[in-house]
Amino acid sequence: MPSPEKHRVAVIGGGAAGLMAAIAAARAGADVFLLEKTPRVGRKLLLTGNGRCNLTHSDCSPRRYHGRRPEFFRTVLTSFPAERTLSFFKELGLLTKTEEDGRVFPLCDQASTVLDLLRDELSRLNVPIHAETEIRNIRNRFDLTCADNRRFKADRVILSTGGLAHPETGSDGKGLLLAEQCGHHLVPVFPVLVPVRVRSPFLKSLKGTRTDCDIELTVDGKPVQRESGEIIFNSDNLSGIPLFQLSRKVTECLQAHRRPSLRIDLLPGINAKVLAEELEGRFRTRPQEPPERALLGLLNKRFIPVLLKTAGFKTESPSGSTVSRSRVSSLVELIKGWSWEITGTLGWAEAQATAGGVDTLEVDPLTMESRLTPGLFFAGEILDVDGDCGGFNLHWAWATGATAGRAAAGTED
Ligand SMILES: Cc1cc2nc3c(=O)[nH]c(=O)nc-3n(C[C@H](O)[C@H](O)[C@H](O)COP(=O)(O)OP(=O)(O)OC[C@H]3O[C@@H](n4cnc5c(N)ncnc54)[C@H](O)[C@@H]3O)c2cc1C
Repeated sequence: MPSPEKHRVAVIGGGAAGLMAAIAAARAGADVFLLEKTPRVGRKLLLTGNGRCNLTHSDCSPRRYHGRRPEFFRTVLTSFPAERTLSFFKELGLLTKTEEDGRVFPLCDQASTVLDLLRDELSRLNVPIHAETEIRNIRNRFDLTCADNRRFKADRVILSTGGLAHPETGSDGKGLLLAEQCGHHLVPVFPVLVPVRVRSPFLKSLKGTRTDCDIELTVDGKPVQRESGEIIFNSDNLSGIPLFQLSRKVTECLQAHRRPSLRIDLLPGINAKVLAEELEGRFRTRPQEPPERALLGLLNKRFIPVLLKTAGFKTESPSGSTVSRSRVSSLVELIKGWSWEITGTLGWAEAQATAGGVDTLEVDPLTMESRLTPGLFFAGEILDVDGDCGGFNLHWAWATGATAGRAAAGTED
């Protein structure tokens, strides 16, 4: 019996999802080639986890993902849990470690090692990589035309061109237009996992300050999401993982014309009553000293003049023997619930991920194949699914890449 023809599979986009898709398709026996717009594949991968690559999370539960159709990502994640990412990389020779909060990193803490291993595997599988090859048109199942008019032919195509976050890495959103050319609808996109813009006269004096705190997003006065961890004060925004985690809801609220704000608890480990007693004691025992002195050692000293001024203290003169109870309680309220007006988020250049993308109603979650154009598959951030900060987005890239690659080769398992 003649052996069945191998499928000729084109993978468009050499990010995490495309690299995984090309490996999976080649392992499953397809004749695969990879087309990448920039001079090198995996540029964004090198930036991940601050160069350490937070490649998955020990608990990739669907509640850590967002998008219009939760049933879609639930199906994908059920068939591709974190263990499958770990076993894939273990097989490539990568040892990993799981941190206390569940984030998984390479033991060597190097994103570049992850990329080296993926590239080595592609080379072992004889998958050609055509760099500096930007696909502009997909027609007739499937003629692919490049920006410089070169042409490629394939009988299956995996579209893994990413979203719009950090466009200098190559993912500038134009790949979404290719999906539209093939008849797909797009859910409107916006940047997520991004610093939050705030308005405050004090930001300039706090620029560069970092502190561990609890932070709460309130909408029309009601708390809607709470996060903890280190935040950084910048000239017109607050950044750090807690802000990244809140950023999606911030944009959703602003889009719905609601008024989000932040409340920061600068001393989450001390309750308000204990803090009030501590402050009263400090002012009582140091009446000759300026009030700043009483706060020294309690919190980051760059906050002290700002907090005292906001709470109505005169910072130059001595505290005096009687700092009123009401003044102390305003100071406590401020330290435990400092309110910040939100004006928006930063943009694509600072974002780690894209909300929105190809509408997943039009994609089969078991194969990643288009329900509109047979032979067209999707993988990664191009889809209308985004994860929290913590390894969830790379996990999505691996999971969808592996699923699309296997299915495009024609061997679903
Ligand atoms: C700074 C930063 C840090 C991050 N850290 C983490 C982390 O630690 N853990 C985590 O889980 N997630 C992290 N993320 C998110 C994660 O990196 C992405 O979700 C993931 O890389 C998306 O992979 P992708 O393959 O779908 O898209 P991309 O990695 O964006 O790759 C898309 C590729 O397609 C190419 N391309 C685009 N258009 C075309 C075209 N027309 N023709 C040919 N090629 C094209 C692009 O050049 C690019 O190489 C981080 C993101 C950023 C920006």
